[in-house]
Amino acid sequence: MKQTICTIPVSDVFTEKNGCPFCNLRKKLETSYAQYITGDAKMEPTVRIATNKVGFCKEHFSLMSQIGSRLSNALILESHLQYIIDNCFSDSQNPKAIKSQALHGETLAKSCFICENVDEDVKRAMETTVKLFHKDESFKKLFLSQPFFCLEDFSLLIKTADTILKKKEFIEFADSAREITLKYLRELKGDVTHFCSMFDYRNAGGDFKNSKDSIERSRVFLCGPFEQGSSSD
Ligand SMILES: [Zn+2]
Ligand SMILES: [Zn+2]
Repeated sequence: MKQTICTIPVSDVFTEKNGCPFCNLRKKLETSYAQYITGDAKMEPTVRIATNKVGFCKEHFSLMSQIGSRLSNALILESHLQYIIDNCFSDSQNPKAIKSQALHGETLAKSCFICENVDEDVKRAMETTVKLFHKDESFKKLFLSQPFFCLEDFSLLIKTADTILKKKEFIEFADSAREITLKYLRELKGDVTHFCSMFDYRNAGGDFKNSKDSIERSRVFLCGPFEQGSSSD
């Protein structure tokens, strides 16, 4: 299923140059999966079996209800709730079985079909990125012109590169990714420092420069983009 619905090329998100390319990829994939699940796939038995077993997180339930109809959401929930009745609450007088069902419920409450698929797709996109960096000169230029990688994606990218590249290539790649990210991080930190300094009475009436949204930009760097309407203020 993954191959058929998630075909967002890495170069597309790298061309945008608007924030972290992998966060942008995640957003596109999340929308794509939510549309797919609440669209034609809602009646697809293989998809239904998979979503029944894993469920959805709070954020993706909310995305599915924004994107899909109430009937689509209800049909998905109907079989998911039945799965929980059958697998987490089946009759049992056996304490071990009751405990094991409760553990199953705990896992279910924490897992998400969209998160799992998106993570897998982003992992593959990172592998492609790492490979293209050394193979394709124009992609390398595109990579080097990114505004920044968020903390999580920078770390995942370095981990991915380490599993694919030989030492010399790894160092070159890691140096480039670090340079981009560290440059952004230093500017961001400078903006936060400037913002703080503007509350000093000696700077009263001074210029906030680029620091007014430094709190929001720091949160995006640390946690990824915030959904519209969520508490970003
Ligand atoms: Zn990111
Ligand atoms: Zn999720």
